[in-house]
Order: sequence, then structure tokens, then C-alpha cells
Amino acid sequence: MNEVAAALREILQGPVLVGEPLRRHTTWRIGGPAALFISPQTEEELLAALHLLARVKMPWMALGTGSNLLVRDGGFRGAVIHMGDLQSMTFRGDGTAKVGGGLSMMRLIRQAVKRGLAGLEDLAGIPATVGGAVKMNAGAGGQDMAGVLEGAFLAGGDGMEYWPASRLDMRYRASAVPFDRIVAAAVLRFTPGDPEMLSLSVQQRLMARRKAQGVGKPNAGSVFKNPPGQQAWRLIDDSGLRGHSVGGAQISEKHANFIINRGGARAADVLSLIGEIQEVVQRRTGIMLEPEVQVVGEV
Ligand SMILES: Cc1cc2nc3c(=O)[nH]c(=O)nc-3n(C[C@H](O)[C@H](O)[C@H](O)COP(=O)(O)OP(=O)(O)OC[C@H]3O[C@@H](n4cnc5c(N)ncnc54)[C@H](O)[C@@H]3O)c2cc1C
Repeated sequence: MNEVAAALREILQGPVLVGEPLRRHTTWRIGGPAALFISPQTEEELLAALHLLARVKMPWMALGTGSNLLVRDGGFRGAVIHMGDLQSMTFRGDGTAKVGGGLSMMRLIRQAVKRGLAGLEDLAGIPATVGGAVKMNAGAGGQDMAGVLEGAFLAGGDGMEYWPASRLDMRYRASAVPFDRIVAAAVLRFTPGDPEMLSLSVQQRLMARRKAQGVGKPNAGSVFKNPPGQQAWRLIDDSGLRGHSVGGAQISEKHANFIINRGGARAADVLSLIGEIQEVVQRRTGIMLEPEVQVVGEV
């Protein structure tokens, strides 16, 4: 491990952290340590790091805002690649933009709205990076990433490849971005809109989100996907589970599809609670809820 860390230090400007607790980097404030933790400053650094990791056969995973991620308590035995420094943003004047995989979605939306570019304003308030939003096909209201995505530059151990949207196969809260490919940048196509109207709808979205989702404790948004024609929160609520807890993890009293960390929750608590919810809901309705949150790492 130390040799790999030393080799990474040769090619990266930023620090190479060993054993960094991932609870510092997830919105749930849960997660064991990463064997290695790096934050590439440029696409070139990202590619060089992936090339090296592939050569020494060390697994890696991308980390954005950590807002849809449950890292198990044993941590991740590989390199966590924090994307937060790849923040480039180029509006091309033809309604398209090329944006870095680590760019904050909120920053992107504000800049698009200022230019009268519509298509993402319903996503305002989702605590995401562009890369995480592409991977998860993040969405809200009537919009999602699929609606604006032309394609993405995916970095891997063998270099960079452009995948058009058709190949990215964007579905409800899912895409074909493989676990070992990192969205270094995305190309988006917006539609024309009125900046003032767009700005108003962003403000309304932010207010509605605060009202519905202000649960007051660390969380990862909706834990389960909505089954076709159903709402996960209602299935959980109708099963009498609102407020139910395991250890430090509790189903939010305010939003039944949110699990909050009341303080000191472990990933094991959250996973037990997820299992209980699935079992109770399935017994009552026959529907198996599918987690939306990505579970990674070792027990
Ligand atoms: C309060 C709250 C509200 C939320 N509301 C919504 C909502 O309305 N709609 C919605 O869709 N989601 C919502 N979410 C969930 C979450 O914000 C989204 O799924 C978001 O897209 C995750 O982005 P991220 O950058 O935080 O990704 P992370 O959580 O860091 O990672 C999620 C997954 O994407 C991968 N990943 C991250 N970056 C990259 C990259 N550059 N390249 C390749 N893979 C990558 C990770 O490895 C992981 O598998 C909410 C979360 C919270 C906490």
C-alpha cells in the first residue's frame, strides 16, 4: 500500500491519504476508511492515477458529494477518487456545455439559469456532482440528467473514452456507467428559457425541498426507488414503520423514505433497517423495494 501511495504522490499535486475515514465524505456521516484517498486536480492527473492503479491491480471507486452512498463499516480496500476538484464549465454558445465530473450540480444550474438555459432547474437542491448525477441519472419534478445529456467522457485504466447518451443507457435512477469508469466530464444540451422564470422555478424548488426534506439529521435522500406506479415512502408509511430504528439509524418521522443518522449510526445499522423495511413491506404488499443508495465496501 505504501509503495502505491508513494507512486501516486509522484503524479498528483494533492495529498494521498492513507486510511481516510469515509464518514467525513458521505452525507450520512457513515463509512469506514479508504485504503487510499486521492483528489485529482486535472483530467491528466486522473488518467495517470487510474493507469497506475490498473497496473498494480488496485480497485478504485469515484466519490462525488457522497450523497447517495452507504460505505460499509470495514471501509473500501482500494483507492477512493474524490472528484470535487474537477470543476470545469464551458458554455459553448450553441445551447451545449461541457462540464467537469466534479462540478457541483447547484453551481451548474445557477450558471445555466443565468444564461437562459433550461433543462435542469427542477434538480435544484440535489446535493450532487455532475458525475454522480450522471451515474445515478438524478432527477426531480419532471426532469432528469437523461433529458439533457449528450454524452460523457469516461476515464479508465486504459484512457479516456467518449460514450454518447445512447450507450450510457440512462434509466430511472440508473445508468450503464461501469463501476470502474469515472465520469471525467459530461456534454449537456439545454433548451432556451427565460432567465427570470427559470430563476423563479429554482427558488420554488429549493423552498419545496426544504419543506419536504428538512429532516434535520444526516441522511442520503431517498433510500429506495419508487416501484412502478407506487411511492416507496407510502409503502413504508402504510406498513407502520415511520420512526422505526435500529441502533443509530432511524426511519425519518418526517419523510418515510429517508433514513437518518441519529448520531453514531453504523452502516450495519442502516443495512439492518433496510432489510427490515424490505421484509415488512414485501410481507404486506408482495413488493420488494429496491435500494436507490449505492452500497460499497467491506463488512
Ligand atoms: C437530501 C438529499 C436529497 C436528495 N434528493 C434527490 C433527488 O431529488 N433526486 C435524485 O435523483 N437524487 C437525490 N438524492 C440522492 C443523490 O444526491 C443523487 O443520487 C446524486 O446524483 C449523487 O451524486 P453524488 O455526486 O453525491 O454521488 P455519490 O453519492 O458520491 O456517488 C453515488 C454513486 O455514483 C458514483 N459516482 C460518483 N461520482 C462519479 C463519477 N464522477 N463518475 C462515475 N461514478 C461516479 C459513485 O461511485 C457511487 O456509485 C438526494 C440526496 C440527499 C442527501
